[in-house]
Amino acid sequence: MTAQILDGKATATDIRREIAATVRGLPRRPGLATVLVGDDPGSSVYVRNKHRACDEVGFHSVDVRLPSQISTEALLDEIDRLNSDTDIDGFIVQLPLPDSIDRQQILVAVDPDKDADGLHPLNLGRLVLGDPGPLPCTPNGIVVLGERFGVEWSGAHVVVVGRGTTVGRPLGLLLTLKGVDATVTLTHSRTQDLASFTRAADVVVSAVGRPSTITADMIADGAVVFDVGISRTDSGISGDADPTVRDKASWLAPVPGGVGPMTVAMLLRNTLQASVRVQSIAKVSK
Ligand code: NAP
Repeated sequence: MTAQILDGKATATDIRREIAATVRGLPRRPGLATVLVGDDPGSSVYVRNKHRACDEVGFHSVDVRLPSQISTEALLDEIDRLNSDTDIDGFIVQLPLPDSIDRQQILVAVDPDKDADGLHPLNLGRLVLGDPGPLPCTPNGIVVLGERFGVEWSGAHVVVVGRGTTVGRPLGLLLTLKGVDATVTLTHSRTQDLASFTRAADVVVSAVGRPSTITADMIADGAVVFDVGISRTDSGISGDADPTVRDKASWLAPVPGGVGPMTVAMLLRNTLQASVRVQSIAKVSK
């Protein structure tokens, strides 16, 4: 069997078209800002992709670049400024931040209603409670990509590999929400005999960042695999899934071209939803 591709690139293009159509009907363009501290080349590429996507859907976008020596206090001032900027509906602080910056203090300072990443502690709390709020972009991108290709989450046994706070752990919460209804096993580096779990899964999502974490012998025939982890190797970018997985899975979200583009599409969607909320409040109060 050769896996069919869960094409995140094409799906994200469709979603951007849907977003652009909604934007055309709004009185004001939604605004997204990114804050990049330092000059990490990988982060610069991610930020550039986000602004390109903003242009495509008709968002106003602001690219804030700050030196790596910036103090936590000065970065907090920048965040305050974006929190009160009425042209900005959502923003993200690109991670990783330099070690000298107190990451937690920064992330908590973002106005939860402008949290385009959906990773503010308050929004993660809303996710735990099943309350509405911006959803974490990569986990939501995985769920939406699966839905668009007919992956039946309800009743599926999903094994998530990696319990990181941007992907694995919030994905576990999202997949077990009422209405999504998957059964989740969340695994990590201390899991004993990982393959015994992944082999029993209908769907395997790997968010580790180590090549060949998932090999063909670790999945069931016809399993669905979402490759999320990213590693930079001498031969370019690699996912967590070994190439042999393609011959055994029924569907595969590959690296690159699978979950990555969906993450950006969900960032736009969170910003659009924040903007629609603000603009409808403004209309009511006129
Ligand atoms: P993270 O916080 O570093 O989490 C990695 C997780 O992998 C940890 O929970 C770790 O377990 C687990 N792990 C490490 N070795 C393992 C092993 N041998 N077996 C099982 N689990 C193992 O990373 P993250 O922020 O969640 O991101 C995960 C990966 O996804 C990264 O490669 C990142 O670049 C990628 N990513 C991709 C996208 C995208 O859009 N495609 C978006 C975000 C992140 P412990 O907790 O026990 O250490």
